[in-house]
Amino acid sequence: MRIIVESKSGSLIAYNVLEKRIINSGFCTLCGACEAACPVSAIQLGGEKINRLHDCSKDLDLCPICYEICPHSEALLLRSLSCVADAPIKNEALGYYRKIVLAQATDPKLREQSHGGAVVTSLLTYGIEKKAFDSAIVSQAEPENPSKPKPMVALVPDDILSAIGSKFFPSSVARAYGRAVYGYGKTNIAFVGVPCHVLALRKMNAWQHKISGNLKITIGLFCFGTFSLTPLLEHITKTYKIKLSDIKRMRLSSKFVIETEKDVIRIPMPEIENHILPSCRTCTDFTSELADISVGSAYPLKDWSTVIIRTKAGEDFFYNAVENGVINTWVIEQEPKVFERLMVAAMQKRREALKEAKEMEEVYGYLPVLLLRETDALANIKIEEIMTRAIKTVPQDITVSQFLELVAKRHHIAYPIVNENSEPIGWITLEEASRVEKQMRNVTLVGQIAIRKLVAVYPEETALDAFKRMSEHEIGRVLVFDRANPKKILGIVTKTDLMHTLTKQY
Ligand SMILES: Cc1cc2nc3c(=O)[nH]c(=O)nc-3n(C[C@H](O)[C@H](O)[C@H](O)COP(=O)(O)OP(=O)(O)OC[C@H]3O[C@@H](n4cnc5c(N)ncnc54)[C@H](O)[C@@H]3O)c2cc1C
Ligand code: SF4
Ligand code: SF4
Ligand code: SF4
Repeated sequence: MRIIVESKSGSLIAYNVLEKRIINSGFCTLCGACEAACPVSAIQLGGEKINRLHDCSKDLDLCPICYEICPHSEALLLRSLSCVADAPIKNEALGYYRKIVLAQATDPKLREQSHGGAVVTSLLTYGIEKKAFDSAIVSQAEPENPSKPKPMVALVPDDILSAIGSKFFPSSVARAYGRAVYGYGKTNIAFVGVPCHVLALRKMNAWQHKISGNLKITIGLFCFGTFSLTPLLEHITKTYKIKLSDIKRMRLSSKFVIETEKDVIRIPMPEIENHILPSCRTCTDFTSELADISVGSAYPLKDWSTVIIRTKAGEDFFYNAVENGVINTWVIEQEPKVFERLMVAAMQKRREALKEAKEMEEVYGYLPVLLLRETDALANIKIEEIMTRAIKTVPQDITVSQFLELVAKRHHIAYPIVNENSEPIGWITLEEASRVEKQMRNVTLVGQIAIRKLVAVYPEETALDAFKRMSEHEIGRVLVFDRANPKKILGIVTKTDLMHTLTKQY
């Protein structure tokens, strides 16, 4: 469904909705996609705000573009998802993917400069050198204010090297993508950004915008959120009595770490949490679920990154770089702690975002980025058509340690627990298990920490019934029971199954 509004002059344009719902409500993350996509150059990002250069309703009678391609509108979400939906694995925490591996740049000097394994920099440098693409959109640090990202169109390896490392403030990379097409005439562009940046580019593609065909590959970064630049820097400079020019580097571990020439300041997250952008609070995507390749930290391993390969194009490009000796890889299944942390972080972000979104919808009457908005189609689908029948259960008497090993092997995060008669008694999830203290994991049985709430649906009910029950109980999955034998499980339906069903409608 297209959302457009009638302007005073009688024309139908989307800018008014963008302004009201996104810009004025504080949900803009300054990606610049609206500026890049506007057909009459009516929008411009200036500093930390969006400016309307002229009233586009004088040029056009109908235009839904800026609102629809904004990553914080509900439009085009499911169509955007189709770019990854052919991947063989679908996971409720991580989205669709082909493979997850650990990776690092083979060059140790690069690893020293990055916040992780310098995988992104190595892949981009390799791609430019081998002419796999003709340019890359990256975010350098502003010379006079190194905390501030400066998006750029990188043309040579040195440009890419100058952007190594993460900057935790908004970067207008989608605008830079537009510049690469219009200003530099580039036709084969690599793009790096956080999940909402990647979503903006995918929406342009779903919209079939004329600049979207120039995108060759997207590398998405994991992201918990970005900070509002001026308010956070003001807080830091005042509280810690330093000048902006003193800041050499910022890092994020369990604390926000600021390195100056003379000092290292470690700020506890609760102190600065209120400077995280409002959109980040309702953002469900931790791992850039729509990227060709997603990259994030491999905590607790130093010098390594976690890489989620989602598309065939991403897989071919990544393994080409590996075969040419640019990247080392390692199997994540050998590092269950990395996998556990990844899944827990992704689930936590999703859960907290959904909770927050519910509260925000009450305040604003509108919800920024909530997948599964387009639910009408679910009413026409029977649960028996979409449920997974091959259910993997776990017995109540295995230990938490055994359960965590099983999660690392199977890549699923939630399982029904069954008793000695194979009857379901509850759920065990990775999140519950990882809350058990490490020293207690060998002596705690999953039956002891089971979630005893079993929410049921039946095969003849609809996918919409399943969705409503999940929302009502704030859970991500329901069990399908046999009406004739209420202790017999026939299948399972997850939110990812519902999403998958909806993507197939397009
Ligand atoms: C705002 C933000 C939040 C993050 N939060 C997490 C997290 O919670 N958990 C986690 O595991 N990982 C997080 N990451 C990702 C992580 O910090 C690394 O970027 C990622 O692991 C890639 O590491 P690398 O060594 O391969 O990248 P590098 O080789 O160092 O390359 C980093 C690339 O990131 C790009 N970049 C830097 N800052 C920005 C920005 N603000 N916007 C767009 N692109 C940018 C640069 O252009 C560069 O090409 C976050 C990144 C950002 C930018
Ligand atoms: S994209 Fe440009 S022309 Fe279209 S509604 Fe938005 S501001 Fe107006
Ligand atoms: S498209 Fe990007 S810059 Fe434009 S309003 Fe949306 S978030 Fe802000
Ligand atoms: S948390 Fe989401 S909305 Fe916020 S910067 Fe990251 S991807 Fe964008």
